[in-house]
Amino acid sequence: MPKNVVALLLMVFIAMTSCKDEPKKEVKEASTLKTEELKPVEVKEFGYTLKNYLVVRDTIKAGDSFGEILQRNNLEYPQIYNIVEGAKDSFDIASLQVGKPYTLLCTKEDSLQRPKCFIYQPNSIDYVVVDFADSTLVKKGKKKVKLVEREASGVINNSLYVTLQDQGLSPIVAYKMSDIYAWTVDFFRIQKGDRFKVIFTEKYIDDSIYAGIDKIKAAYFEHKGESFYSFRYETDSTKHIIDYFDENAKNLRRAFLKAPVQFSRISSRYNLNRRIAYYGNRVRPHKGTDFAAPIGTPILSTANGTVIESARRGGNGNYVKVKHNGTYTTQYLHMKKRKVHVGDYVKQGDVIGWVGMTGNTSGPHVCYRFWKNGRQVDPFKQDLPKAEPIGDSLKVKYLDYIKPIKHQLDAIVYPSEKTSNEEEFLTELNQQNAISDNQSN
Ligand SMILES: [Zn+2]
Repeated sequence: MPKNVVALLLMVFIAMTSCKDEPKKEVKEASTLKTEELKPVEVKEFGYTLKNYLVVRDTIKAGDSFGEILQRNNLEYPQIYNIVEGAKDSFDIASLQVGKPYTLLCTKEDSLQRPKCFIYQPNSIDYVVVDFADSTLVKKGKKKVKLVEREASGVINNSLYVTLQDQGLSPIVAYKMSDIYAWTVDFFRIQKGDRFKVIFTEKYIDDSIYAGIDKIKAAYFEHKGESFYSFRYETDSTKHIIDYFDENAKNLRRAFLKAPVQFSRISSRYNLNRRIAYYGNRVRPHKGTDFAAPIGTPILSTANGTVIESARRGGNGNYVKVKHNGTYTTQYLHMKKRKVHVGDYVKQGDVIGWVGMTGNTSGPHVCYRFWKNGRQVDPFKQDLPKAEPIGDSLKVKYLDYIKPIKHQLDAIVYPSEKTSNEEEFLTELNQQNAISDNQSN
């Protein structure tokens, strides 16, 4: 996740404190799913039948070592030494982390109930078994992860985060959505009334323990009345290149246009050491890039964003400033005429004004300024996100793949449109939507 997205989400979090007048009815749906009970007669875990052992569960404490844990549980040193020696090639016993859970399977056959097996869980999915019932054996395993597909929708009243939270959904869905839409929708300027729909998968361990959000499969976002679809798609299965594309196979991560005017030439580049004869050959840094073009040539916004300034002022003349996201802002100077107002939402390539000679300029051009985190930089030296489109050969396959998913998205209703019967039906449908076993990322 890029840094700017993290920063942006922090803002979303900060904005979360107030306003919770959305009905709480969805919470029930989420918790029903999580508390599904599973009580088989013979419980197997980590590949062992638990009823054959005395099971000791604990977490690693500060100062604990593998040897001490075994010693505390009635093993003695020559044997501990042998276990450590036997395990050390396949398990780094120094890697035990404070707070992580471990399990000891102890024999019921002697009064000391000595352990036969040590199981360490570095995370909720992976585990390491050190079995010393006979000789020492180390096995690594993963808990069975079941993916459950879910749907959600909402109308934003405050922030995406709060809207999801009111439905009992993880903030990670908000994280992931703002990551997907980082180049399309400015989440700082999300509006009351913006709406979204999302299809995502959740992970459940051993069929019952919620283990977080897996991934967003598809989403729909309506911002200021504009529709933005996104579908997760793997464009290269050998390199595992996965990206989100819209309904026309366009990449959601849009790069900036190279220039704000077509058929132009660069007459002056970003140059911090520029010297100008007119000013006695003194250094007059040029923090913009000048594109010379005939008067009246349309000036295009180089990326999607919101107009934050549109004015005529001093040396800038007629200018427009567009904020694209938490990181990038662009500015266009010396316009003959401006076409947009403060607050307008513009898409990449939209005309925002026309080339002119207003302000300090010796000829018709647009001075293009590029701001990153509040500092003017050279757009040609930035490592801007690439927007690889789906290749022609894959496009047909992609459009075929998204067809049913788009139908599914379109069929999701907003909470306000749901009747209580529909809700129950959807809950059931969600629960039946367990799509695959034993899969994880
Ligand atoms: Zn300039």
